[in-house]
Amino acid sequence: MADAVTDLNEAKGGRWLVAGLVVLAAILGLVLARLSPPAPVAESAPPSEFSGMRAQAVLARLVGGGEPHPVGSAANAATRERVLAELRRSGYAPEVAVGFGCRRGNSCAEVRNVIAHLPGTRPGKAVLLAAHYDSVNAGPGASDDLTGTAAILEIARALKAGPPPRRPVVFLLDEGEEGGLLGAEAFARTPAIREIGAAINLDARGTSGPALMFQTQSSNAGWIPLFARAVPRPVSSSLFVTVYQRLPNDTDFTVFDREGVPGYNFAFIGNAERYHTPLDNLANASPATLQHMGESAFALARALADGELPAAGRGGEVFFDVLSSFVVRWREAWSVPLALLALLLVGAAAARIWRRRAASAGGTFAAFLGFLGGVAAAAASAWLFGLVLRPFGGLALAWPAEPRPVIVALWALGAAAALAPLSSLARSARPAGIWAGVWLGWALFGLALAWALPGASFLFVVPALAAGIAGLIGSGDRPAWSALLPMAVAAILWLPIALLLFRCLGTPGALIVATVVGLAATSLAPLLAAARRRSAVLWAALAIALVAAVLVPATMRPSAGAPRHVSAFYHWDADSSAGRWIVSGDLPPLPPQMAGFAHFEIGTPFPWSLKQAQGAVAPAPALPLPAPTLEVLADEKLPAGRRVRLRLASPRGAPTVTLQVPAWAGARGGSMAGVELPKDREGKLPQRGDWTTIQCLATPPGGVELDLELTATGPVAGYLVDRSPGLPPAGRALAAARPPDAMSDGDAIAVSRKVQF
Ligand SMILES: [Zn+2]
Repeated sequence: MADAVTDLNEAKGGRWLVAGLVVLAAILGLVLARLSPPAPVAESAPPSEFSGMRAQAVLARLVGGGEPHPVGSAANAATRERVLAELRRSGYAPEVAVGFGCRRGNSCAEVRNVIAHLPGTRPGKAVLLAAHYDSVNAGPGASDDLTGTAAILEIARALKAGPPPRRPVVFLLDEGEEGGLLGAEAFARTPAIREIGAAINLDARGTSGPALMFQTQSSNAGWIPLFARAVPRPVSSSLFVTVYQRLPNDTDFTVFDREGVPGYNFAFIGNAERYHTPLDNLANASPATLQHMGESAFALARALADGELPAAGRGGEVFFDVLSSFVVRWREAWSVPLALLALLLVGAAAARIWRRRAASAGGTFAAFLGFLGGVAAAAASAWLFGLVLRPFGGLALAWPAEPRPVIVALWALGAAAALAPLSSLARSARPAGIWAGVWLGWALFGLALAWALPGASFLFVVPALAAGIAGLIGSGDRPAWSALLPMAVAAILWLPIALLLFRCLGTPGALIVATVVGLAATSLAPLLAAARRRSAVLWAALAIALVAAVLVPATMRPSAGAPRHVSAFYHWDADSSAGRWIVSGDLPPLPPQMAGFAHFEIGTPFPWSLKQAQGAVAPAPALPLPAPTLEVLADEKLPAGRRVRLRLASPRGAPTVTLQVPAWAGARGGSMAGVELPKDREGKLPQRGDWTTIQCLATPPGGVELDLELTATGPVAGYLVDRSPGLPPAGRALAAARPPDAMSDGDAIAVSRKVQF
């Protein structure tokens, strides 16, 4: 009797391969459609609902004139007033909490957090909705994170318009996230944090795309079912949570998580080339993204505020959305049993294949090795791709404005490379042997991951389960179902990941993208093996890769859509009474348009710059500016070293004041405004090159006190620098000469002097 797998051997003529490719294309279309965020809900929606159009109007008011508004700047004070006005308009009495925050890297600031309360009908822990209203120096931050801020302001309005929630809701629009989560740190040091039972944080690393729920606390067992029930269009998986845990990136949620507050962290990552640039503007902010982020957070806030909070500490969940429609999940403890079941089912199907002599165990083993070789070949193909492109400029941009050529090239290369070894084994191992070898490979990968990284295991375990079931349910008149079904399941799970992967990693992740696509492509190998003209398919994939690769170098040059970083400074050296123009960033070369402004020479911009940091330096007219001041308030001898208390200030009112302490002085600890500076693993303040850089990004008018513990017993000589945004009038022509393919990370005036303490 024939069955589904053995009939693969008879599925001649490529009919089933064509069917497989059609199914694949259909799933890709579906995935692309489901990954694009929903249309924004009109302003005429009932007041108790979230409307993306209403939130978009809030966003336009928040962005105002579109100035960058970093922590402590006058522009951010104006942004804060707009946030307060929106809350008052919705009937809230918001407060401004002045605090001080410090983070790793010796970076501190005085911050002003906007906080509003919606009382609950019963006492209990509150639900926190958090976003940051400050931006980086480079751009207006319309998406990062005024989109999150606008979403929360619309949620605050909608919650107040609806029935009162059972538990209190706290809205935190904090300042200084970009300076190192400083607003969240300041909030975490107030008693208010103890009243919070759940947090929803909204942030951005791009300007478009779906709002991904990418982080929870690690014990999220009760929290994922609530997410699955509440959120209408979930885009999330335990893979995001697992991968993000291992990345060095941070958002305010890091602070809430550390404080033991459970919850959900959302961000969107489309058009990452605009992130932290002037292109993060209102025109590029996506109302659909705002709708998706807002409606997801609103639904969760309602569910959390109206119900019981899930119990904490019940272990983790493995979960994933299916076409952004619903969430499949199981407890982490079930991962290994499920993976074993998948291996058992695929193994039983393989044993039946051998028994019926549709393939031999030896052929199956060869196919398994071909599967492993294919995955390695996919990785090697990306490495080779980078090597071949190097003479043409290589993959110079992490996020090109036009990423399609590099994505198509990596996908086609990865797929062709992974399938080539398996295709070459088709005759000897026979299609049924390829099926058994490949799906045993998937089941074994699933088992290894279920043990080591359960959050990622579903990617292998679910398709392998589908393969095992389809392989055992034989049906003589439906050959190749056993190959088609698991391939379709794999495509539904892997295509969204593969699509998001490039947005997440950019070209530095080329090898990972090609490997992941190659791995996913092996699910097509049994159908390919059954087709007579399989080499033609591989050659076609290679041809597509080649055409795309030819287009790549042109996309890797800085352009108006993906500019290089070129910032201009006026530096007044108060010691030598000399002014200098400094252009730094992605140099050399200095843009020719800027080179004519003054007599520039390439060199190290500041005495405390890292040695590899290159800049262009030119003499500038003298603009005597008052230098920052350092006052020694106390100097105490310790058994090993000294403790000094200093007051740092900028008489000209520059927001940022930086003290450069030479590394030999051994700054092993300290605090600013009474807030401890976090130490590194070696138990001292983190260093950059030969210097320990300690800065206050938003300095109070009277200055800020810094306590330092030094191993040095004698006097220490360093530099004190203050920095204010913008250039003096004499430098405006320099800024204006910046070409369209370059952007500023924040032009500034810096005044420095030598100090001794
Ligand atoms: Zn942000």
